[in-house]
Amino acid sequence: MDSIEKAVSLIKKSNYTIAFTGAGISTESGIPDFRSSGGLWEEVDPQLFTAQNFIENPIEFYELALPLFKEIKEAEPNPAHFALAELEAAGDIEAVITQNIDNLHQQAGSESVLEIHGHLRTGSCQGCAKEYSFAEIEELMQKDGPYCLDCQGLIKLDIVFFGDSLTTEFMEARKLASQAELLIVIGSSLEVSPANLLPQLADKSLIINLSTTPFDSQAEVVINDSASRVLAEIAELA
Ligand SMILES: [Zn+2]
Repeated sequence: MDSIEKAVSLIKKSNYTIAFTGAGISTESGIPDFRSSGGLWEEVDPQLFTAQNFIENPIEFYELALPLFKEIKEAEPNPAHFALAELEAAGDIEAVITQNIDNLHQQAGSESVLEIHGHLRTGSCQGCAKEYSFAEIEELMQKDGPYCLDCQGLIKLDIVFFGDSLTTEFMEARKLASQAELLIVIGSSLEVSPANLLPQLADKSLIINLSTTPFDSQAEVVINDSASRVLAEIAELA
């Protein structure tokens, strides 16, 4: 049995499978992996994405980040995203937990998606919680800055910054992972805490990633290959 057949057999035997995705699933959609070499961090100081920097320099943050985020918003799902939506529709996986903020799982048709690092669809006023769309925030940046029209509070994108506290989505993700008989890790190097704790909570794990991860020795099957190629094959056989 080759490793793809082993992966399919694991999925077929499991009664409760959760997928966990990282930046690696979206690189084939043209979104750079923030942490790999040649990635976004080489162009942008990671300090930009700390909660403290955002509070202290919100206008500078938006001026630098909005063009990057706009590129992410224009990306399209690739065969890996579509394969996960197919597996969910077929009842082979229950939900996708993602570290990505790119909305590509939903665009591909996944219904149950937990975004543990948030998303770019909206931002919220830190004063009165009024919600603003991404386009509205862009518009405000052209005028008076990212401030609430009702209370002048600072509008923060609904993404998780470094230094932010854990989201309710993360708590929910932890619950799903601990219920999982099988966790399929896709495109994550499992180096970011606390997300890297999730694979330890599931009974079994399957890792699909271009490079090795610190959890490879604990996984049932590890496939070091392109997520889109591997998942398309798995969805076809499952
Ligand atoms: Zn407000």
